[in-house]
Amino acid sequence: MASYDYDLFVIGGGSGGVRAARLAGAMGKRVGLAEEYRMGGTCVIRGCVPKKLFVYASQYSEHFEDAPGYGWSVGETAFDWPTLLANKDAEIDRLEAIYRKGLDTNKVDIIDSRASFVSAHEVLLEATGKTVTAETILVATGGRPNLHEALPGHEHCITSNGAFHLETLPKSIIVAGGGYIAVEFANIFHGLGVDTTLLYRGVKILNGFDEDVRDHLQETMIAKGINVICHQVFENIERRADGRLEALLSGGETKTVDQVMLALGRVPNTAGLGLEHTGVEMDRSGAIIVDDYSRTNVDHIWAVGDVTDRVQLTPVAIHEAMCFLETAFKDNPIKPDYEAIATAVFSQPEIGTVGLTEAQATERYAELEVYKAVFRPMHNILPGRNEKMLMKLIVDADSRVVVGAHVVGPGAGEMAQLLGIALKARSTKDQFDATMAVHPTAAEELVTMYQPSYRVRNGEKAAA
Ligand code: NDP
Repeated sequence: MASYDYDLFVIGGGSGGVRAARLAGAMGKRVGLAEEYRMGGTCVIRGCVPKKLFVYASQYSEHFEDAPGYGWSVGETAFDWPTLLANKDAEIDRLEAIYRKGLDTNKVDIIDSRASFVSAHEVLLEATGKTVTAETILVATGGRPNLHEALPGHEHCITSNGAFHLETLPKSIIVAGGGYIAVEFANIFHGLGVDTTLLYRGVKILNGFDEDVRDHLQETMIAKGINVICHQVFENIERRADGRLEALLSGGETKTVDQVMLALGRVPNTAGLGLEHTGVEMDRSGAIIVDDYSRTNVDHIWAVGDVTDRVQLTPVAIHEAMCFLETAFKDNPIKPDYEAIATAVFSQPEIGTVGLTEAQATERYAELEVYKAVFRPMHNILPGRNEKMLMKLIVDADSRVVVGAHVVGPGAGEMAQLLGIALKARSTKDQFDATMAVHPTAAEELVTMYQPSYRVRNGEKAAA
């Protein structure tokens, strides 16, 4: 039998890679992990975590606006961007140290280096020029922002990576894209007082989400003062002598702003990984092709997370890593379960969603009951804030199972986590109805919508 330096070598120290390495180490395997940047990956270093901290920061402007309704005089307020950046960086340092400690405790060899394949069992560590061998290799290199190199002037733009390190907060920005990142950052910048435009090529933001959710959020963002431009793209972007950017839009308008941020999707990180030396197959976008268990076409090479471009979410990468471990090392093959993944968009107001949209459910079921409530959450009443909350449940009329749940409003992300359990358990609407409400909360609406708002029969909307 060949002898290798490691039982498992992991390339990439993000959510999926760290989890796999740590648990394999805990099993007594000899594990090495190489990371070229910082431990924690996109989620911890330049994604979910710092983004959420920015979201909290950006919500203060509305808290200050609402305070007088509750009797508070706030006085003059000021926002200091460098303070937010420094505090955010300190928190990221703390989390990175926890990740490293978790690996260390489980005796994982941490190698701060870019790694690439030289053969199917051999990995080159570029920092030292040393080559190591491993019996099993896990690729967990994640993804990176699409730089949209076909766009003239793309080099003047930032992506989410840059947004976390801007030296100064711009006075004005155009955020391009209509997905999670564009929507979240447009709201962050707006909340921090930046004159914000969202530019999206489609008809309405958040393609793929329930139509009511999309309408509700887009209308609310516009009402807040975010300039949402749909059905247009950039023609080109030029830097002026004064450093500002001039963006020509496809509709013919030119906009001059301090920054342009591209949030046009993410691409798998496989460039320069040496996969050509292994025979591992990739798709046209460069994503590693894996089977239902995250195994590539080369038996001992596996891949999890965004590099496989299945579902680009941190908890999914972690789940895939745990399934990989069971399958590869515990003789307990488990396929990742992608049914009813609850997710949140940290827009303002935020979105929490799980299960099918009305359009998807219409395709799958002959008759639906749709329960919908739009109301002003209690918190908004005294401040006179007009912003409404949306709740929507989609029920298969035949089985009475709740197949989709969608919330837009304060706390929607937290609600989605719990709705995720109910939908995963295939709870029926009768069980929702039999659940005692928690009063007074916004979430109680989810168990007190007794009458359907309408039905959908064979694709046609019908009276309740
Ligand atoms: P998304 O896939 O969500 O959105 C990409 C957006 O860019 C879409 O609106 C897409 O338009 C648009 N787009 C793509 N290519 C072009 C182009 N050539 N010209 C103009 N527009 C274009 O990607 P994000 O970058 O926002 O986020 C990446 C992933 O990260 C998400 O899929 C999500 O899973 C994850 N994420 C999750 C978060 C969370 O859980 N809260 C937060 C942030 C990210 P169209 O819709 O028309 O295709």
